[in-house]
Amino acid sequence: MSEAIDSPKGVATNARKKLCTQCKESKPLLAFFRDKSRKDGYAHRCKECSKTNYAAWYQDNKERVSKRQADWHLANRERSLARSAAWRNSHREHIQARDAAYYKAHQQQKRESSRARSKQGAEQLSDTYVRQVLTDGTSLRYRDVPQSLVDAKREHLRVIRALSIKDTSNE
Ligand SMILES: [Zn+2]
Repeated sequence: MSEAIDSPKGVATNARKKLCTQCKESKPLLAFFRDKSRKDGYAHRCKECSKTNYAAWYQDNKERVSKRQADWHLANRERSLARSAAWRNSHREHIQARDAAYYKAHQQQKRESSRARSKQGAEQLSDTYVRQVLTDGTSLRYRDVPQSLVDAKREHLRVIRALSIKDTSNE
C-alpha cells in the first residue's frame, strides 16, 4: 500500500508523513512544526522550508525585527516594574506586618540575651553589674567609676547578699 500523501491539503492520511507545500517532499510529521491553527496540527511547510523562509524574511526585515524586540523589552521592563510596584502597593500591610514581626522577633531575642547577660552579671557581681549599680540614677558613666570603688562595692554587695540570705532563712 502506497502512502497517501497526495490529498489536496498535503495531509498524510496515515498520519505518519506529510507533504511539504513548498519543497513538495513527503516528510515525517516530526519534520514539521506544530501549528494548532491547522486541521492536522502541523504547519504546511516543513521545518527546513520554514527556516529558509524565515531566514530570508529576516534578512529583509532585520531592522524592523530588532526594533520590535527592543520595543518589546522596553515595554516588558516597564510592565514588570509596574507589576512589582503594584504588588508592593497591594501587599503593603502584609509587608509591613512581616517586617514588624521580624523586628519584634529580633528585639525579643536581643532583650532575652541581654536579660540573660545581666542576670548572670548580677549573680556573679561582674564589673559591669557593679558599675551599673554604682552609676544607676546618676550622670556618671561606667568608665568614670574607679576600679577600687567597683571592688569595694562588690564586697559591699556580697555582704548585703550574705546577710539577706541569712535574714530570709531566719524567717
Ligand atoms: Zn519543505
